[in-house]
Amino acid sequence: MQYKSFSLLPGYDTNTWLLWDDESKEAMLVDPSYPGPTVAGFVEQKGLLVRWLVNTHGHFDHIGGNAWAKQTFNAPLCIHKDDAPMLTSGQRNLSSLVGGGISSPPADRLLTHGDELLLGKSVLRVIHTPGHTRGGISLLGSGLLVSGDTLFNHSVGRCDLPGGDMDTLLRSICDRLLTLDGGTLVLPGHGPASTIEDEAVGNPFVGMMG
Ligand SMILES: [Zn+2]
Ligand SMILES: [Zn+2]
Repeated sequence: MQYKSFSLLPGYDTNTWLLWDDESKEAMLVDPSYPGPTVAGFVEQKGLLVRWLVNTHGHFDHIGGNAWAKQTFNAPLCIHKDDAPMLTSGQRNLSSLVGGGISSPPADRLLTHGDELLLGKSVLRVIHTPGHTRGGISLLGSGLLVSGDTLFNHSVGRCDLPGGDMDTLLRSICDRLLTLDGGTLVLPGHGPASTIEDEAVGNPFVGMMG
């Protein structure tokens, strides 16, 4: 599986991840934070077909390009069922706090733990990782994990926003992410990439997990 990050939303360092299967050329766009002509140009240049649009969770800095992405790629928009109400409410996706009313089209498919999304013969499995939001997910593909705002390089997502809970977040990370193969590449929602092994050894929050 191939991957590339795009930084689209001015003033935020949100990673918008494009994942694709080299053989079938089928692709998934994760967290389109803002309309992204550079993404469309790359997709065209590589001859990719975007099959899925996925939000790791419903915060405004991860969904602001959903409407653009749907219009551009005509692919189904997917989000965990517990975060789906955030898409269409500026109050719930917190854009109302920063003076904007970001809203997204409603979800086309509601995800739950264990769901699988296919790119050709490659599989991306949905791992429900609540704690940053109630419906936060990570996506596990061959050798890589898109971790949203759950797990960052030597940090974790904040838990002080509505729907957040530190104990739940640490349990998600401990039980469902750090148990993955150590060599798994971690592609987070913000900041640089990491690996599961690096986080198991060096993440300062790991010591807080009982
Ligand atoms: Zn977030
Ligand atoms: Zn974020």
